[in-house]
Amino acid sequence: MEETLTPLIKAHYGFRATIKAMSGYGSLNYHVRDESGNQYVLKLEPDPAASDFLQAENQLLHHLSLAHALPVQTPAPVPALKGQDLLSWTLAPTPPQQEAQIVLARLLTFVPGTFLAEARQDHQLLFSLGAVLGQLDQALLDQRPVAVERRRIVWDLQYCLDSEIYLPLIADPARQRLARYFFQQYREQVQPRFSQLRRSLIYNDANDWNVLTKDGRVSGIIDFGDMTYAATVQELAVALAYACMHKTDPLEAARPVVAGYQAHFPLEEAELACLYYLVAARLTTSVCMSAYSRHRYPDNPYITVSEAPAWTLLEQWLALNPRRFEEEMRRICGFPVGPPPQAAELLDQRHQFLSRGMKVSYAQPLLLERGALQYLYDERGQTYLDAYNNVVQVGHCHPLVVQAGQRQMARLNTNTRYLYRQLGDYAERLLRYFPAPLRYVYFVNSGSAATDLALRLARTATQRRDLWVLEHGYHGNTALGIESSAYKFDGKGGEGAPGFVHKLPLPDLYRAPEGKTTGDFIAEATALIRQHPQLPGAVIAEPVVGCGGQVFLPKPYLQAVFQAIRERGGLCIVDEVQTGFGRLGDYFWGFAQQEVQPDIVILGKPMGNGHPLAAVVCTEAVVRRFENGMEFFSSFGGNPVSCEIGLAVLEVLENEALPQHATEVGTYLWSQLSALQADVSQIGEVRGRGLFGGIELVQDPVMKRPDPRLARQVVELMRQQSILLGTDGPFDNVIKIKPPLCFSRANADQLIATFTQSIHEAI
Ligand code: PMP
Repeated sequence: MEETLTPLIKAHYGFRATIKAMSGYGSLNYHVRDESGNQYVLKLEPDPAASDFLQAENQLLHHLSLAHALPVQTPAPVPALKGQDLLSWTLAPTPPQQEAQIVLARLLTFVPGTFLAEARQDHQLLFSLGAVLGQLDQALLDQRPVAVERRRIVWDLQYCLDSEIYLPLIADPARQRLARYFFQQYREQVQPRFSQLRRSLIYNDANDWNVLTKDGRVSGIIDFGDMTYAATVQELAVALAYACMHKTDPLEAARPVVAGYQAHFPLEEAELACLYYLVAARLTTSVCMSAYSRHRYPDNPYITVSEAPAWTLLEQWLALNPRRFEEEMRRICGFPVGPPPQAAELLDQRHQFLSRGMKVSYAQPLLLERGALQYLYDERGQTYLDAYNNVVQVGHCHPLVVQAGQRQMARLNTNTRYLYRQLGDYAERLLRYFPAPLRYVYFVNSGSAATDLALRLARTATQRRDLWVLEHGYHGNTALGIESSAYKFDGKGGEGAPGFVHKLPLPDLYRAPEGKTTGDFIAEATALIRQHPQLPGAVIAEPVVGCGGQVFLPKPYLQAVFQAIRERGGLCIVDEVQTGFGRLGDYFWGFAQQEVQPDIVILGKPMGNGHPLAAVVCTEAVVRRFENGMEFFSSFGGNPVSCEIGLAVLEVLENEALPQHATEVGTYLWSQLSALQADVSQIGEVRGRGLFGGIELVQDPVMKRPDPRLARQVVELMRQQSILLGTDGPFDNVIKIKPPLCFSRANADQLIATFTQSIHEAI
C-alpha cells in the first residue's frame, strides 16, 4: 500500500514521502514524513458518502487551528498543490484486493506528544484534560455544520441504545447483565432528561489514545471523526469514561477533570444529574462495540484495546453510588448539596402510621434509594453489598425482569377469569422444572398465601386437619401460616401449637446432644407420627430450616418422615420459599437435594425477583379433590404482568447459568469461611450450599452456648463496612448469608475479608 501512496503524495502534494501505516481501526491512517522531516498524517476513507462530513471536519479543524482559541494543538488540513484539502484517489489493486479502490484522501499536520494513555495521570494532568475540553467546547459553540448534525453514529451517546443489538455478543453472562443494567438505567435516568440538556457541537472522543500530553499537561487533541451535535455534557462523559480507567478510585480521578472543565465551561444542574449514567453509557457502548468488533474482525487487537479496562471500570462504577457521584460533582461546580436525609424522620413518620410490630434492621436503619444487581444505594451516597436477599434472586432491578414488567404493565393487566397467553405459557414453563407427578400450579401473591392454600388443598384432599410441622419452621403470616409455624407459635407473642398441629424434632446435628444421630432423630420422628392417635392430614417442611438458623436437614430424615406420613394416608408438603429457584446451586429445588417427592410444593420469594409472585405446585390427585364446586380465585394471582415477570426470572436464571454460578461462588465462600474456624473458636459451625447458608456463633466450641450478642455485633460491624447480613435461629446467634445469585467471587472475597476483620474486632 505504501508504494501505491508515495507517487500519489508526490503528485498531489509535491514532496517525496516516507510512509508508514499507523495502527487503528481498519489501518487507514498513515504516518507521512517529507524530505525536511515535517510530519503529517494521511487519512484515507473508503466510503464516498463520508465526503460531506469530512469537508465539515476539515473546516472545523481549520477553524480551530486559525482561531487560536485553544492552548493545544489540533490537526490542521494541509491543502494539496491545487488548493483542495479533500482529494479522491484511485488506488491500484493490491493483492488480495482484485479491483482498484476509490478513496477520499486528506493530509493533516501531525500532532506530537505522549498519549494520555501512556502518561502519568496526576491531578494536574487530569485537570488540564477537563480544562482543554471546556475550552474546546467553548470554541465549538458557534459551529453547527449540517453534515455533522445529520449524522447518526453509535458513539454519540444520545443514540447509544443503537448498540444494544450487540449485547448478545457479550459471552460472559455476568458482563452482559452489567451492560444491560446500565443501558436500562440510561433509558430510565437519562432519556427523559435529554430535552433539558444544552446542545452544541462536541468533539466526542477524548479517549486516552486521542489526547496528547507534554510536561504533565494536555498538549494536543486528535481524531475528530466522531464529532457530533449533541448534549454538550456528553463531551465530559466520554472523557471521564477513559480518565477513570485504571484507577483504584474512579471518583478521585473524575474530580479534577470536572473541575478543569467547569473552569472554562460552567456546567448546569441537569447536566450533572445525567453525568453518572452517561459515563456508564459510554463504557457500555464501548464494550458492546468491542464484542461486535471481535466478532467481526477477530484478528485486530487494536479494536478491543480498551475493553478490559472498560469492564473493570463498569464494575467499579456499579459499586459507586450515583448520588455520591452527583453530589461530589455538584460541590465541585458550586451547586448546593442538601443535608443528608435523616432516617430518624422517616422512622417517626412510619411509627405514626404503621405498627411497631414491623421491625427495622440495624441500630442506624438504612434509608435506601436504589438497587443495582448485588448492590443497594442509600440516600446518603453509600453503597452496600447485599448479602442478605434471597428475594431478588437474579439481582436488584435486573434489566430483563424490569423490562418484562414494564412492557406488560403498559400492555394488559387483568385476571384469570379471562384468557391471555401469559398464564398458560408461564405455567407450562414453570412446571418443566418439576418431576412428572407435580403437574398443576395455582398462582398467588405471597409465600404466606401459598402456604395457606397448600394447607387447604391438603385438608380437602385428605379430609383431615392434623398437621405435622418441624420445630422452628416458618411458613407464613396468615392465620394458618402462623398456626403451622413453630418459629411463630413457640416464639414471642405466640400461643403455642394449636391442637391440630404436632411438632417433629429438628435434626440439628450441631446442637443435638452428644452421640445423637440422624437415625435417632428419624426413630423419634417416625414413632411420633406412627403412634399419634390422630391420622395425619399432612406434613409441611422446609428442606433447609431458614428461620431455624439455616439448618440443612440430614438425609434421609425427610425421606423417613414422608414415608411415615404416607403410610398413614397423609400428604407431604415442601416449602421452597427460601430454597427454590437455584438458591442451593446444583439442586434447583431443596426437595431434589433431599431426594424426596412432595405432593405439594410452596413457592414464593425469588419467583418474581421482588414482584409479589408465589405459587402452589401439586399433583393431579390433589387438584381434582379441590375441584369440589367452590371456585378458586385470586384477584392478582397469575395476572399477566406477574406471569411475564416470572417468565423473565426463569429465563435469566437459565441464560446466566445462575444456579451453576451459585455452586461455584458458594463452594468457595463456605470453604473459606470454614477455614476461619481454626482461628476463631467462636465460630461454632459454618454451613452452606449454593448461596444459602449460615455461620453459627457460640461463646465456646465445647459447650456451644449461643452468642447472639456477638452475632448482632458482627452484623452491625459488617454494615458499617457496607455489607448487609442478618441473624436468625432459635437463639438468634446464626448469621445468615443469602445474597442475590449474581454475587460474584470478588464479592465473596470482600465478604470473607470483612467478616474476618469484623469477628476479630467483635471478640
Ligand atoms: N415460607 C418460608 C420458608 C418463608 O421463609 C417465608 C417468608 N420468610 C414464607 C413462607 C412466607 O412468605 P411471604 O413473606 O411471602 O408471605
